[in-house]
Amino acid sequence: MLFARLGSCFNCLLLPRLFLCCFLGELRTGDGPSGLPRTEARESNMRRYSERNQQTLQRSAEVTGIGYLTGAQVRLRFLPAPPNTGVVFVRTDLRPIATVHASVENVTGTARRTTLGHPPVQIGLIEHVLAALAGLHIDNCRVELNAPEPPGMDGSAQAFVEAVQSAGTEVQSVPRGIWTLDGPVSVSQPGATLTLHPSERPGLTISYFLDYGPNTSLGRQCHTQVITPQTFPQDIATSRTFILESEVAELRKQGLGARTTPADLLVFGPQGPIKNYLRHANEPARHKILDIVGDLALLGVDLQGHVVAYRSGHPLNVELVRTLRERMVAPQCCARAA
Ligand SMILES: [Zn+2]
Repeated sequence: MLFARLGSCFNCLLLPRLFLCCFLGELRTGDGPSGLPRTEARESNMRRYSERNQQTLQRSAEVTGIGYLTGAQVRLRFLPAPPNTGVVFVRTDLRPIATVHASVENVTGTARRTTLGHPPVQIGLIEHVLAALAGLHIDNCRVELNAPEPPGMDGSAQAFVEAVQSAGTEVQSVPRGIWTLDGPVSVSQPGATLTLHPSERPGLTISYFLDYGPNTSLGRQCHTQVITPQTFPQDIATSRTFILESEVAELRKQGLGARTTPADLLVFGPQGPIKNYLRHANEPARHKILDIVGDLALLGVDLQGHVVAYRSGHPLNVELVRTLRERMVAPQCCARAA
């Protein structure tokens, strides 16, 4: 049933080579788009290509809901911040109040979610909040929380996007760098790859290829998205996190999701989503793009290029950010939100 609903992406399911489906002709498997041979491209460096003005919020906004991890009622507040602040998470429930900058150097966990900081100053599942801010080009923001996680809401970034949009955008008179690279940069682990390719198209495009194998109702699906403050809320932000029914019991054993039901996110059983419906035929692939937008925000600059992801998740997302950070040429690499 799910396969029948995969719409524009259905053709890719029929192709033996998944990589060819969404942008045939745009990417080549031999030389990179810049014509560099692979051996040279692996050593490509990042360079500052362009810039735009940094942005923050005009006023504060709030989101409240149940945390997926703790089951507690969580209050999250978005507040304006000065130029070059970046995104800073603030644990208002701790004494003294503690802050963690949303930077790849502060990542301490990537298992099923992205976690920043060390206990007790730790915040988990930050990627949907970061995606909402990055997707709307909000660069400087203080994010206050009274728990070690944001509210889970419906498993998407929609509630955070609506809050940020309600707060309004203020343009700041300090530039934010837009970086590109000379050739593709890849990270991989068994069965998964993540590559940032150079692209002459402005901005960031992300393609995700999801394959959960032949024994799940998720099957294979893909999505390609140009990420802008217009397309992100419309095409990506509403796509919810998902889990296989077979994984639920294990998470419950770990004490997670005690107050979460199949209506609060997508739980896939043998016949598809349980007690729920899909907002897009390829909603899981779109949610993977949402996660990538959030994790890439840990780099602190904008990217121009095309990210191609095959079965990747938070570990590879963060590894790509670490790799890109290493390849950013000084002195720009050291400036937050530069
Ligand atoms: Zn997610």
